[in-house]
Amino acid sequence: MDLYEYQAKNLFARHGVPIGPGQRVADDAATAAVAAAEFGVPVVIKAQVKAGGRGKAGGVKLADGEVDARAKAGAILGLDIKGHTVRRVLVTPASDIAEEYYFSFLLDRANRTFLAMASAEGGMEIEQLAAERPDALAKVPIDPLGGVDLATAKEIVREGGFPAEVTDAAADVVVKLWETFVAEDATLVEVNPLVRTPDGEILALDGKVTLDGNAAFRHPGHAEFVDTEADDPLEARAKAKDLNYVKLAGQVGIIGNGAGLVMSTLDVVAYAGEGTGTRPANFLDIGGGASAEVMANGLEIILSDRVVRSVFVNVFGGITACDAVANGIVRAFQLLGTVDKPIVVRLDGNNAAEGRRILTDAALPGLSQVDTMDAAARRAVELAIEQDA
Ligand code: GDP
Ligand code: MN
Repeated sequence: MDLYEYQAKNLFARHGVPIGPGQRVADDAATAAVAAAEFGVPVVIKAQVKAGGRGKAGGVKLADGEVDARAKAGAILGLDIKGHTVRRVLVTPASDIAEEYYFSFLLDRANRTFLAMASAEGGMEIEQLAAERPDALAKVPIDPLGGVDLATAKEIVREGGFPAEVTDAAADVVVKLWETFVAEDATLVEVNPLVRTPDGEILALDGKVTLDGNAAFRHPGHAEFVDTEADDPLEARAKAKDLNYVKLAGQVGIIGNGAGLVMSTLDVVAYAGEGTGTRPANFLDIGGGASAEVMANGLEIILSDRVVRSVFVNVFGGITACDAVANGIVRAFQLLGTVDKPIVVRLDGNNAAEGRRILTDAALPGLSQVDTMDAAARRAVELAIEQDA
């Protein structure tokens, strides 16, 4: 789960990372103007969207006083930044900047460890820095058990090329960023820019935090960050029903049991649809149990997706055998009442023959069976194309 900048900086502040003299969130220009008036100093007005490069996109502006803040906030609210509409701005007293650095901790999946990245050349987008000046970006693996103490932090900022006179102050902030990373179960904590002010203070002027959803149960407080506005509405409904669902861009709805099988199903459907523009509409793993209720909930979500043209149910019977899944599908049709899109079912594995017989006998409207995964994927794609013709 990605956080907005203001949420990230609130978390930072709780762990002692300096973020400057306060911040206020506003969802209209008048509120932003009031905040600027209350701060009584020049402010920065910043678009709150979950995308980088806001500065370049016109989403970060300095404002001096109430009238200017109202105008600048008005110009930023409603902007489209990389496909995200700005609905809220952050108002914060402007800091004087002597230097801009880059710092992050992240989960480095490829190397199965944590990584610190540091550079004395912050401000610009990190992908660009990494591509154009890789030497200027230090990458230091972090021992997850040892963590980051002051000595390690000093080492990292030195490798990042931070000037000697800021090593101590920056290392102090780095230790607190590591504490944030660990305590909050984050997979990313990024500060760009981390600045030095003319009087030598180190401040996190921007913040990007990704929290590990798998650790959500340890952090009831993180519920406040759940972002129903930015989430896809279908994903939000699926989450409310405890379904393992991810919305994708295509037209063929997918239901399977087991994440590996579902991912393979996405591949075969994408392959079958190659050149036709027909693609999988979602990922949905109904898991091992595959009860009628879960099947009905899954079908209901997928069928309510307006762009879905056909559905492919791909099940490999294991502990939950195919006859139980078939009964689940029959029961799901009863629960749903009407099913107005064609459904292709492929059952294989434990008790496949019995499962297929149950579906044949039930003669459910719009449901057809195909016995192999590849042929079923092709059929689902054909049906999706026919629906559009
Ligand atoms: P991003 O473009 O989405 O990463 O947004 P940032 O929060 O990083 O802001 C972009 C740039 O705006 C920063 O690199 C700074 O140069 C500038 N900026 C942000 N906050 C301040 C501030 O308080 N004072 C000054 N002078 N510049 C700021
Ligand atoms: Mn930034």
